[in-house]
Amino acid sequence: MNRSWRVATFAGININLHISFVLVLVMGAWPWLVFGAKGALFGAVMMLAVFACIALHELGHSLVALAFGIPVTDITLTPIGGVAILKDRPKTPTQELLIAIAGPAVNVVLAALFAGIGIAVEGWDALVAASQTIMREPPRAELIWIMLVSANAWLAVFNMLPALPMDGGRVLRAFLSYVFAPERATRIAAVVARVVAVGFVALWLFVPNLSPMLPFIALVVFFGSGAEVREAKVNRVLALIRATDVVTPYAPRFEPGTTLGEAVQVLMMSPLPVFAVEQAGRLVGVVRREDLLEAARAKGSWGFVSSVLIREVPTVDPFETLDDARSKMQRGVVRAAAVMRSGMFLGLITELELAQAMEVAERLRATAPRDSLGREVR
Ligand SMILES: [Zn+2]
Repeated sequence: MNRSWRVATFAGININLHISFVLVLVMGAWPWLVFGAKGALFGAVMMLAVFACIALHELGHSLVALAFGIPVTDITLTPIGGVAILKDRPKTPTQELLIAIAGPAVNVVLAALFAGIGIAVEGWDALVAASQTIMREPPRAELIWIMLVSANAWLAVFNMLPALPMDGGRVLRAFLSYVFAPERATRIAAVVARVVAVGFVALWLFVPNLSPMLPFIALVVFFGSGAEVREAKVNRVLALIRATDVVTPYAPRFEPGTTLGEAVQVLMMSPLPVFAVEQAGRLVGVVRREDLLEAARAKGSWGFVSSVLIREVPTVDPFETLDDARSKMQRGVVRAAAVMRSGMFLGLITELELAQAMEVAERLRATAPRDSLGREVR
């Protein structure tokens, strides 16, 4: 994500172009190059317009997510489409359903809008006539509306294919989640997604002149749906463990006045990614391992831990689950949560505690009994 430029900000969401986006302009211009420089410019501008529609599609997902209280930081546009970074997952099937459907719904509205404008400005007969000469004559104004309508219709239909992690797959998973436990619903949706992915490849092999993007998208779907299944499993396991089960008072802690030299010595003995900083027995913030190392490199060992202190730390109650803790960690600025009992700091939960808990729980509880809908029997 770091090789991108921010081009706009809307409702606190940064809209970024990935560096490989330059390819998109070339891909847009290429087929129109037969009509000279003007044709190439037309192709590039139309491709930009289509990607603006993709950005609006992602904005549709993002605004519904924001309405459900799920923070959205970035929308990044790449040659294969857009992606909105949600800092937490939907908490109910209805939330997932509405967030997923909002993107394609934007394209349906845009298609109708551009069709209306095209008919009003150019007239129906002119549009039909222009559609019959596409790519055979130099580009003309009518084509703008034809291309925008077909691109948005295609975006809506393609994204609604039931292939997790695409939007249609999320809609399918949401419907399944009304009946099945989340992990079971995800597994079923992933099987459907893989059938669709194999279908894409078969289609590409046997139908001539289909886009070379098709097998590529099949790969993304095939592996993306597998990642969704793993994620659903992690969510289920972490929801079974409480913060109090993993928090340790023995993790090293710093004070704001601890020198960077002392801190680096501790780093050599501890694998933790984040450390608590206490003053007079009270938690004042946390420091990240990489920030400590960077500060020690830049300032030398006589600098202080306070120079890289992060004060905003999410807190969890000892009896909240690790799933809750992870949710708060993902929303926060730092990947750690402080376990607090009536104002007293018990310890931190970091990615390391989550990974350790997953490892132990997977070995011990992977065979826990389930009911016929895949829900854990406790
Ligand atoms: Zn989408």
